Amino acid sequence: MKNVVVCLMPGAKFDRSTGGLFGAARRLNARVTAVIPGPAEDDAVASIAEQADTVILADVADLSEYQPERTLAVLQSVCEPLQPDVVLLAGDTYSQELTPRLAGRLGGSSIGDAQGLMFEGENLRVTRSVYGGKAMAVVELRRSPAVVWVRARSFDPEPPRETPGTVETRAVDLSESAGRHINATEIIERHVETTGDVRLEDATVIVSGGRGLGGPEPFEELKRLASTMGAQMAASRAACDAGWVPPHWQVGQTGKKVAPELYLAVALSGASQHLMGIADAKVIAAINTDEDAPIFRHCQFGIVEDYRNVGGSLREKLASLLS
Ligand code: FAD
Repeated sequence: MKNVVVCLMPGAKFDRSTGGLFGAARRLNARVTAVIPGPAEDDAVASIAEQADTVILADVADLSEYQPERTLAVLQSVCEPLQPDVVLLAGDTYSQELTPRLAGRLGGSSIGDAQGLMFEGENLRVTRSVYGGKAMAVVELRRSPAVVWVRARSFDPEPPRETPGTVETRAVDLSESAGRHINATEIIERHVETTGDVRLEDATVIVSGGRGLGGPEPFEELKRLASTMGAQMAASRAACDAGWVPPHWQVGQTGKKVAPELYLAVALSGASQHLMGIADAKVIAAINTDEDAPIFRHCQFGIVEDYRNVGGSLREKLASLLS
């Protein structure tokens, strides 16, 4: 039987993305081991145990928050003796950062943004979109273990198993005498951005603004529309790079991949790199002055108009409909 290890990050929670990650693992009909580096809440551990055959809690001092070198060393230390065929990680920034490095440490191969996984004989085949979502590629990973990060919400969660898996605590010694290579990274300051209650990757409604808004102030107006709709805010790279909104709002090839029920794109053109991030949105709607903007070729509903002429009335109409 194949052996799949799901690696979570410090402070692991059980949310829809985590559920989808285990959904991907369980579809491989393999033995599933979850690894949590550092401590985690009892509720999260219990939910993860309902998805895995075994949960390994790595008992290591001072790892309540993500630290790249230490997290990598813990995952390497726990994964090595398990000799997995496949190691799966989520699509968050930390997991994306660690995936190729963990593959290197384990002597395996690596790829990211997986939307489909299947074994072909001994090897794992990964399906992922390429050319801005215009085509799908199937990539076979021939060096074991295949270490892969999975696109958020690409896999549905599986129901909890009737018999939860066992939970083991494993002491991990990261001292230099244990031979682990840990760079002396010193964290000078930790700046935590305030984010909404729901991660962008898990949001069901998203209102996203682009360069056409012209500055940070119109984003405040857009926020009021988003709050009426119960939506999360997002933006194009142009708006993020301009410093109008925080970088973690960015959606696209080099930003977040989202899969909401509704994505409202306001004053953004729909460049291929942006579209890559919204390929899994169920419904796309757009407001843009340019009827030839590429976003109109990808949306189900569109308004060719200056956003300033429609944003306010749209909010009022929605507010009266929802009240
Ligand atoms: P623009 O393309 O300038 O579009 C602005 C739009 O606003 C226009 O369509 C205009 O008609 C409309 N507009 C103007 N005024 C109004 C108004 N008053 N009312 C209504 N509409 C109006 N981009 C991303 O978004 N995400 C990524 O992850 C990303 N990754 C990239 C990776 C690489 C390697 C590269 C090369 C580029 C990447 N980009 C990414 C950048 C991308 O190519 C585009 O430059 C960017 O998406 C453009 O942002 P925008 O649509 O906001 O701006």
